Amino acid sequence: MWLCCCCSRVCCCFYSTFSSKHPHEHSRSGRFWTKGRGFAILLDAMKPSLIIHGGAWDIPDEAIGACMAGCRRALEAGWSVLHCGGAALDAVEAAIVVLEDEPVFDAGFGSHLNFDGRVECDAIVMNGTTLRAGAVAALQRVRNPIRAARAVLEQSSHMMLVAEGAERFARDHGVALCDPADLVSDAERTAWQLCREDSHAAEHHRGHEQGTVGAVALDAQGNLYAGTSTGGTCCKLPGRVGDSPLIGCGCYADAAAGGVSCTGYGEAIMKIVMAKAACDLLASAPLSEHQRSGPEHNSSNIHSGKPVAPAGNPSGENFRAMLAARKAVHLLAHRTHATGGLILLDCEGNPGLAFNTPRMAYGYVLPDGSFYTSI
Ligand code: ASP
Repeated sequence: MWLCCCCSRVCCCFYSTFSSKHPHEHSRSGRFWTKGRGFAILLDAMKPSLIIHGGAWDIPDEAIGACMAGCRRALEAGWSVLHCGGAALDAVEAAIVVLEDEPVFDAGFGSHLNFDGRVECDAIVMNGTTLRAGAVAALQRVRNPIRAARAVLEQSSHMMLVAEGAERFARDHGVALCDPADLVSDAERTAWQLCREDSHAAEHHRGHEQGTVGAVALDAQGNLYAGTSTGGTCCKLPGRVGDSPLIGCGCYADAAAGGVSCTGYGEAIMKIVMAKAACDLLASAPLSEHQRSGPEHNSSNIHSGKPVAPAGNPSGENFRAMLAARKAVHLLAHRTHATGGLILLDCEGNPGLAFNTPRMAYGYVLPDGSFYTSI
């Protein structure tokens, strides 16, 4: 697979040096003609891929069932779009809406409360072909912030809107607003009260440490999108914005490299621009055997998934995607001494993930179309 030098779309074409014409034409059906020396071949569209996460941190045992079920429903929602030829942007939105609506995650309803006891949400979605993003921050009246982020991406000339201006834009572009109180769950209200009474002591976070959500999707036409949505950190100062909605920090997508969504301690993730760092690692040259066995990437406190043959690359293996994820988390740990995690798809749809928190909720679609979820 190549990034077409003529039209910047990802495709599987073989450029004929004997042809003066554009080497291929993309068709609406997701299939395209490759022109060779006097002949043409109709290639099948790419196999779509999807990976999602429900946040890092120390997810308590009693929340594991709800996190796994939420991840599974998010995969179902996103895959129902992708497997019948739908668009990656629709799949990312569908998956993230499910995660935002599930109060066990820190996004949309059930987000952590800020110091004043209010929910303030951030979200971003990014197009890997155009490198355009739509981002929103400090929303208090939007139940599904990813929808507001998409409205910014598709219907504004800007890349990020915040607070009241973002809410007004969302409402004017068809995203329903809600009462701020509708976003507050009982569990988060209780945790916030305990924190306020006791200087934000760590033990109050047992039972509500679930994190940010995100999704990365590649569709049959080769479009790659990544998205991230969060309520941020518990008891954050009003107006605080973390890594999640910042392009390159909590999310990045470049069709020439891959798409990434991050979770973890935002103030540290911002320092290393982690999502872009992971994309750069994906884009770097093929890995040598020496790099594969490098000791720093085998550090035992970084967890990652087992390489599998993913939907987008049934005959290959996703070692490179997994290693890029591990390297990015290693960079976070090494340069900031902080914890977090990420999910990614490389430009061929191979999934990768890593985290150095005790746990991270995640899931992806296997080559046979079944769902793999884990914590
Ligand atoms: N990264 C998010 C933030 O700092 C929090 C998280 O991922 O749980 O806002």
